[in-house]
Parts: sequence; structure tokens; C-alpha cells
Amino acid sequence: MKIELTRENFKAALAALKKARPARVALRAGAGLPGSAEGLAALKAAADLCIERGVPLEIAGIAPCLAPGYARYLKTSPGKSSPCPAAKKCFLAGGCSGIPARHAAQAAAFKPPERGFTDLERCMLAILSAKNGLSTAQVLKAARGLKICSSCSNEGEVFRAAERLIKFGLVAKKYSGGEYLWIKN
Ligand code: SF4
Repeated sequence: MKIELTRENFKAALAALKKARPARVALRAGAGLPGSAEGLAALKAAADLCIERGVPLEIAGIAPCLAPGYARYLKTSPGKSSPCPAAKKCFLAGGCSGIPARHAAQAAAFKPPERGFTDLERCMLAILSAKNGLSTAQVLKAARGLKICSSCSNEGEVFRAAERLIKFGLVAKKYSGGEYLWIKN
């Protein structure tokens, strides 16, 4: 069963799915859906119905930021998407092929969702807030004096946490004197 939910039809489409007993379902986010909170809720309700009934499901025409928790069902179409301007700051970008071409006019609705920081990331931000422009070794030394977590045991972990923060645009790195210095933006 193929169902295209649009801003206009989502209530009727969801009602039709509830009545039907399809063997499999292909949901598609149609016109206007990214900008409609109610429409997106209907898309998720339709997906949940399929999942609860054990019906094989595929969701097309939407990006992970507008369907959090449904990544495994998303059908990506790289050739039919345009690059997302917010991708560099989006932790979901690795599993996203961009803004579906059909929703180009609603690109503003595709925004990176909030992501909680790991203890390592919080620790690094706290350290750089106190003193900016530290080397990896200096960050590691400072971390030993903080009680945010105790899992930071080597420079590799500091480096990886910093690289993730760079991806979110919160930290920058500068190569100086043969080593990287980490700078909180
Ligand atoms: S914000 Fe952009 S990169 Fe992130 S999931 Fe949405 S469309 Fe993809």
C-alpha cells in the first residue's frame, strides 16, 4: 500500500491506513508536510501503526531530523535531494542524503535537532570556557581536575571529542608549534 501524506490529506490518509490491512506500506511525505507539525505527527502515527502491526515499512521524502527515531525505515534518494546547508552542524548528517528535492521550498523546516552532549564533550567545553586555546595534552591535564566524568584517559579521546564539537561548530582547531590548539567558538 502506497500512501502519500500531504498537508491537506494526512487525516484521511491515516484513517484509511487504520482501516486497511496492507501486507506492506510505503509512506511518502508529500507536499507541505515538512512544515506541518500535525502532518508530521500523522506520519509518525502511521509509521507506529505499521511497526505495531509488524507490517514492513518504508518512508520516503523526509530527512532524519523530521522523523527522529525512524531512521531505519527511511528510504534515501541521493539523486533526488539537495545538500542541506545545516549539515555541518547536524549530528544526523551521516545518515542523511539531504533535503528532498520535492521539499526545496520548505528547506527551512529541516533543522538539526538538539543533541545532548556526552560527558567528554561537556568536560571539554567547560575546560575551554575556563581557558581557551589549549593543546590536547593541556586539556587532558585539566580534565583530571574536573568531576564531570572519569572516562577521559588518553589524548585520543580528547581529540575525538574535540572533532565532534568541531562538527557542531562549537570548537575550532589551530595548528601551532607542531600541535593542535583547541578553541571554543
Ligand atoms: S538538518 Fe539537514 S543534515 Fe540534518 S537531518 Fe535534517 S536535512 Fe539532514
